[in-house]
This record gives sequence, structure tokens and C-alpha cells, in this order.
Amino acid sequence: MLEILSKCPVCTHNYFSPFLVCEDYTVSKEKFQIVSCKNCGFKFTNPRPASADIARYYHSDSYISHSNTKKGILAQVYQKVRKISLQSKLKHIQKESQLQKGKILDYGCGTGDFLKICQDNDWEINGIEPEKIAREQAESLLNTKIDENIFENQFENKQFDVITLWHVLEHIHLLDETLTMLQKLLSPNGVILIAVPNCASADAQKWKEYWAAYDLPRHLYHFTPQTLPLLLEKYHIKIDKYIAMPYDSYYISLLSRKYKTGKLNFLNGFFDGFQSNQWAKKNSLNFSSVLYICSKKQ
Ligand SMILES: [Zn+2]
Repeated sequence: MLEILSKCPVCTHNYFSPFLVCEDYTVSKEKFQIVSCKNCGFKFTNPRPASADIARYYHSDSYISHSNTKKGILAQVYQKVRKISLQSKLKHIQKESQLQKGKILDYGCGTGDFLKICQDNDWEINGIEPEKIAREQAESLLNTKIDENIFENQFENKQFDVITLWHVLEHIHLLDETLTMLQKLLSPNGVILIAVPNCASADAQKWKEYWAAYDLPRHLYHFTPQTLPLLLEKYHIKIDKYIAMPYDSYYISLLSRKYKTGKLNFLNGFFDGFQSNQWAKKNSLNFSSVLYICSKKQ
């Protein structure tokens, strides 16, 4: 079942223009539309699968973000890059929170690999993961309970030094309710790290409807360095810093070329990723994926 949004999730304006129609290349092969709010420019998938119906769009072996399957070269490359990027994520949270260890909540923790690195480095960890199989894997890896959602949780009056959403915010149906909760769970001096694709990047413009980071209909929102601050402002959260996520560009480029040409080509994919990062070096807001370092407005 599809649901239609009648109001912009950022500014509640109700006039949108069509932006792009893209295929779901990984699972359903269905087509979905992205619209652009005429008032604030925010881009979102509309109509979109209702929350109760979204699970079937994740059911594919080729949707590997949430699984540890080692099948296929692409999956192997992905796993390698993921290992390197896990280390860099730990460095980011330590640097941005100015803590060597503290309390962390990873929202959308998947199979728990990032939390595992945090745990090994003496962080007190909590995770949330709606997808059952991933959640159970995380629980056995971390030997701790992982919550299914943010509304029924075991946090009581807990507040976190660091909250992370690694390529997760774009998947959340209850965006308003979730951001309200996350704001409450952040300690006054805490930091939120939000990594999302940037649909204003040179990369997105190059690949258009083939750009893998649109990932319809799993990605419900398509943020830019211009629109994310507008959304966060509503929850009294400000963006302090923008950091490039260069590892992500390689994977996204590889997939984009595959969608466009029907073939997987590692050499071209590597070149595309490299080119994407070179463009972005001229302007960090041009990166294909951006990590936003955010904090509460004092
Ligand atoms: Zn709007």
C-alpha cells in the first residue's frame, strides 16, 4: 500500500513539483517519484510505501547494507570498505564528542558492527534496529539487548553523549516523532552525527535517475546541505560541521554505473568514485555522502 504525503515534512507547505522518477533497481523493479517542495526545496519520495508495507522492499540478497552475506564480489568489496569506514567512524565520534569513551546510541544499528567497535573501545552502547534478523545478529554480536524502536525503549532517563545515524535518517517513516525523541535523548553537550547521501552533489547530477543513493523506495527523503539544516532547526538542533564521506562515493558510483549500463565494472566504478571525490574536494558540500556533526542549540 502506498501513502501520499500532503504536506512537506520540513515546512508543511503543500505544493510540490515533480523532480525525478526512478526505478527500484535492487528489489521490486517498480517506479517511484521524488517531488520537490515549492517552498523550501526539500525532496522526498511521494507517494511512498506505507510503514507497514516497506519490509518487502528490503527483501533481497542484493540489498546488502543490512546483511553480512559474503556472496559475490560486490558484497566482498563492500565488506572490505565497510571495515575501513568503521574505524573512521570511531575516530569521528571520539573527535567530535571530545571523549575517548562515553555513552552512545546508534539509531539503526543494523547487524551491530559499528557498536561492536565502540564496545571494544569501552563505550557504553545502546542500539535501535527495527529489522528483526539484523537486530538478532546485533544482539548476539554485542551480547546485549537492542531495542526495536525508539518509542518503547529501555533508556528511562538516560541521555547520550553521542547519537549516530549512519545512512538511517532517510529511511525513517515517523521522522517528526523520531527527531523529537532523539533531541530529548541527547545530553546538553552531546553530539549527533548524521550521515546521509547528498542529492545536490555533482555525482547525483551526473547519474540522474541512475544515482544509486536515491535508492527508492527505501530512501524516503533526499537531503542536501541546504535542506537538512531546515529540518533539524525545528528540533533546536544545529549543524556545526560538514564532513565528507569519501568511502561511500566508490560504492555508490559502482552501483550507479551498474544500474545505468546493466553491468558491473570495477575499474570504471573506481574511476567514477575517484572523480566524484575530486569534484568534492573543490567544495566539501559537493560530496556524494555528507556527515553532519550536530548539537543542541544552547
Ligand atoms: Zn517544504
